[in-house]
Amino acid sequence: MDNLERVNLLGMDATALADLVVQWGGKPFRARQLQRWIHQRGADAFEDMSDLARGFREQLTQHCVVQAPTVSTVQHATDGCRKWLFDVGAGNAVETVFIPEDDRGTLCISSQAGCTVGCPFCSTGYQGFSRNLTASEIIGQLWWARREIERDIGSARLAGSEGKVESTADPRVISNVVMMGMGEPLLNYVPVVTALKLMLDDNAYGLSRRRVTVSTSGVVPMMDRLSQDCPVALAVSLHAPNDALRDRLVPLNKKYPLKELIAACNRYLEFAPRDFITFEYVMLDGINDSDAHARELIEIARQVRCKLNLIPFNPFPQSGLTRSPMARVRTFAQRLMDAGVITTVRKTRGEDIDAACGQLAGEVRDRTRIAERMATQRLSIPIKQVAA
Ligand code: SAH
Ligand code: SF4
Repeated sequence: MDNLERVNLLGMDATALADLVVQWGGKPFRARQLQRWIHQRGADAFEDMSDLARGFREQLTQHCVVQAPTVSTVQHATDGCRKWLFDVGAGNAVETVFIPEDDRGTLCISSQAGCTVGCPFCSTGYQGFSRNLTASEIIGQLWWARREIERDIGSARLAGSEGKVESTADPRVISNVVMMGMGEPLLNYVPVVTALKLMLDDNAYGLSRRRVTVSTSGVVPMMDRLSQDCPVALAVSLHAPNDALRDRLVPLNKKYPLKELIAACNRYLEFAPRDFITFEYVMLDGINDSDAHARELIEIARQVRCKLNLIPFNPFPQSGLTRSPMARVRTFAQRLMDAGVITTVRKTRGEDIDAACGQLAGEVRDRTRIAERMATQRLSIPIKQVAA
């Protein structure tokens, strides 16, 4: 029997795993043991799971696998960021980025190969849509990254104990997860929620709801579902303060315009683990960064408890867009703060490895020429015409 016919246990949440174990005549607590082996210890060989009965281990070996997507490249940035490119078959690749900071280590993971939303400032949007990732492929990014990071820390500590590299060892592990990689998580709802539940599960990754963030371009009905099924922290990609501009920058706005989006944010807040929504706002030179835009944005911010996160645009050739100058970003931020809106400017990280949304996988797709075709179509959109 090859792997294709075996059940991949990696993407099974506690209930699904318990059902499987009970179906085989086992006790439900065996599922919890199994979960701890897979997710806490990063085990993928059933024969190593020493506290499981031999017969059960044999059954597992025969019928199941623990399989993350295959890594095709790993890149290390000079600032400690690390980026993995996962091959998810048929020429599709998705990326995962680890961003170490002073007080946390954040893993940014992908939910789809490509994206249907097609925002013109996003290289994932340029690739078009290939397919949804499975729950195994989503949680597999965390499973793999954590194994690798902990292995490196372990070997650095080992070397340190011999008096070699302790001072340069990186002790930071994954404390936060953000669904801000490739794809729109709320358009791949069931696998994403399964993966989120594993992130929160004490027998798996045990992260608190505050440390797991879903970023969405504003899929209103799914925001409501998420508030009931798995209310983690929410970031909303706003990027424009009026419908005319947002229709262009985040085309999903035509379906769920700002008024509906803001109402959905307020409904979500009743269940959210934090008492604010993070609004992401990519700063595009001459497009959405004027004082008039800042004034409109202040009006929106008054309608929802929120924090504004201004993101310097990460340029890529096909977009034809440029990053707002830093002086403009600072002035824009100041306008918001003067009006009492809590505003931060995101630090650009991992620039030497293009650690922004979709960039490396974008290069891979370029070779298939799909990106070029998308770019030709997209550049005909006159974004500048609707800029205030
Ligand atoms: N689809 C979801 C999550 C993935 S994108 C969403 O749109 O929210 C994660 C964040 O990266 C979004 O806020 C997105 O707007 C931003 N982003 C995409 N391309 C970017 C670029 N080239 N420069 C800066 N931020 C970008
Ligand atoms: Fe999709 Fe998000 Fe990129 Fe827009 S910004 S194209 S929603 S991944």
